[in-house]
Amino acid sequence: MDRRPHRGEVLGEAFVSRLAGWYAAARRDLPWRRTRDPYRIWLSETMLQQTRVDVVVPYYERFLARFPDVGALAAADEADVLREWAGLGYYARARNLHRAAAAVVRDHSGELPREAGALAELPGVGRYTVGALRSIAFGQRAAVVDGNVKRVFARLRARNLSDTEVWRLAESMVPDAAPGDWNQALMELGATVCTPRKPSCLLCPVTSFCAALAQGEPERFPAPAKRAAVRAVRALAGVVTRRGRVLLVRRPSRGLLGGLWELPNVEGGDGSALLREVFERTGVRASRGPSLGRLRHQFTHRDLALEVVRLEDAGGRLARGARAAARFCSAADLERLPLSRLAKKALALHRPM
Ligand code: SF4
Repeated sequence: MDRRPHRGEVLGEAFVSRLAGWYAAARRDLPWRRTRDPYRIWLSETMLQQTRVDVVVPYYERFLARFPDVGALAAADEADVLREWAGLGYYARARNLHRAAAAVVRDHSGELPREAGALAELPGVGRYTVGALRSIAFGQRAAVVDGNVKRVFARLRARNLSDTEVWRLAESMVPDAAPGDWNQALMELGATVCTPRKPSCLLCPVTSFCAALAQGEPERFPAPAKRAAVRAVRALAGVVTRRGRVLLVRRPSRGLLGGLWELPNVEGGDGSALLREVFERTGVRASRGPSLGRLRHQFTHRDLALEVVRLEDAGGRLARGARAAARFCSAADLERLPLSRLAKKALALHRPM
């Protein structure tokens, strides 16, 4: 990998060529590394945010089979996009991808723009994704910084670096030739060798540059970030059935699990609050039945304890109105609608899916 040294650089030419050589030999063969199609790279980079590679691969392949290009994604219903995403979590990524695809078709003739400014205007495309698309898809000299890059640099320097410092360092090192490979080399080192716990320093290609290793305790860097407190939340969900169909409601488009379907539920409330919620939300009257079971579900900042109860249908027409994103669903509907993992777990207490 050719590169010119840049002013202010501390980790120099030898570091770059050592890491680049290692990446050429050790890189994992991943589906998105076999393409230069900007749409596919964009999709993979979006899915990989907050999600492990082994989890992403099958989702990536299924998503592409369903939406093979930007035009197909832009033309899809949001519910179909969310269904393909269901289980991957962080659903705002899917909603933004869908909105961004529509913007690409509307404003850029269906081609992802190459300029940083135009990319950054797309919903859900932040500094990381701009750098990844510019370098990996378009071969432009642009840096990326993710958690892996931050950790590798903190250990090489044996100190915690601010985001500004990490970006500056990353930007100073990107070569003119194959910038995408270089960025992936740094991230690959962090993902496979310089891991958060027990880094494999014996296998590391850049040990001689590593100040943290020289100090003997690489894991001390970076200092653990303060985690936001996890809130314990209690909720009650109800199963109402009518002619073999189960009542589901659609969550508002924005926010946690936005746009996904689930059993009607209330947080922190009792049985009467749930019955009220079912009626106000759907127009269906019900009475409380037996408990079907309890489950726990962990969100990033919430530890949810959910009890699922059967509700006996007492009639009432399904409301049609602003809040009435509600329907009685057949087994086929349950296959077709986007359901979160939590909703599937809750439904499984009623009937194994
Ligand atoms: Fe990370 Fe160890 Fe390599 Fe240093 S020597 S960069 S701590 S894997």
